[in-house]
Amino acid sequence: MINMNMRLICTSCGKDHPIDEPHQRCEDCNEPLEVEHVRGKIKDSEIVWERYSDFYSFINQKLINELSLGEGNTPVVFSKRLSHELGNEIYLKDETQNPTWSFKDRGTLIGVIRAIQLGYQRIGTVSTGNMAASVSAYGARAGLKTAILVRPDIPEEKIYPIVVYGSNLIEVEAKFGMIYRKSLEIGKKAGIYFINSDDPFRVEGYKTIGFEIAEWISKNGNLDYVVVPTGSGGLLRGILKAFLELKSSGLVSEIPKFIAVQAEGCSPIAKAYEKGVDYIEEVEEPKTIAGAIADPLPPSGNEVLRKLKKHGMAMAVSDREILEAQRMLSKSGIFVQPASAATIAAIRRLSDGYTDYTDKRFLCILTGAGIKVVSAVKEMLKLESFNIQKTDLEELKTTLESV
Ligand SMILES: [Zn+2]
Repeated sequence: MINMNMRLICTSCGKDHPIDEPHQRCEDCNEPLEVEHVRGKIKDSEIVWERYSDFYSFINQKLINELSLGEGNTPVVFSKRLSHELGNEIYLKDETQNPTWSFKDRGTLIGVIRAIQLGYQRIGTVSTGNMAASVSAYGARAGLKTAILVRPDIPEEKIYPIVVYGSNLIEVEAKFGMIYRKSLEIGKKAGIYFINSDDPFRVEGYKTIGFEIAEWISKNGNLDYVVVPTGSGGLLRGILKAFLELKSSGLVSEIPKFIAVQAEGCSPIAKAYEKGVDYIEEVEEPKTIAGAIADPLPPSGNEVLRKLKKHGMAMAVSDREILEAQRMLSKSGIFVQPASAATIAAIRRLSDGYTDYTDKRFLCILTGAGIKVVSAVKEMLKLESFNIQKTDLEELKTTLESV
């Protein structure tokens, strides 16, 4: 049974919107909506969506079974090397192991089902990378027509993981924030459900990361901080909402603090946080290697600021720090994209400058795979010399002995 007696509530003014209508932002104040909080139990199952099904009563479980590509159940990896280097305990939640190599899949599945439940046959998204690939894959799986809106400056390496699934790639000459807004407006009239970065149901999908972390904590002990690469703000909202729902269900007593990390070249949330203001300001010329978190006008930015007042802080790190952190992670055997490495850059900066941030337990959300952003690897490798050794069979023995 699907529970349609629920409401979508404005995260700012609290206005109710019926769940059986395709609302995505508040009719009155245009701030993000969220599905009202639910209480439940964690069930005994190996499958993510069965284990947490109490928290998804408004989603058709049959469609989950049909359309899931096996999202979630990603490992938490302890890094002895990074822990030693940073003077803290460092745990890594490896979201690169999802079906399209990023955390987006968890939200895309629920977003696609939301679209189907509302009767849509066409979906879309506004993205340059992880989300575009994810929506293309799930759109293909569900047999839906899929429109992906990108800016004309999209690098060629990002095009292939999108078009391979057969979606319609559309370049739009406009600012990213404007494309986001227009897509919702036009999509509503044209009958295309845009599963954008902070769609309320996409955010619901991200709750599974929070549930998994909470289960990990129950076996391995409390965390001090969860470090989240933050662009639109949808991911942080989802993880935190899971903890809040578990707390009101009596299943957790403490909620770890959250650190929202942005890149200095595009850090509207971190800037507003530092200034102590309640509203973000659009970044005019975003410039950073961490493209996956470069959202110049984060649609959930104000809501993240509201949530961080009680639950954590925001900060920004430089591209240089991000590339160095990416190198540190890869030397620990984990190859992530720059946005994910921003988490380690943040801990490194905190543990350098502030004694409050030593001997703490951090969990970083490694949001997406490094192989998707090959251009960043070239930048990363500029930081130190490397060369490819050449040899022939006669010299191979000597060459190998020198390794
Ligand atoms: Zn409102």
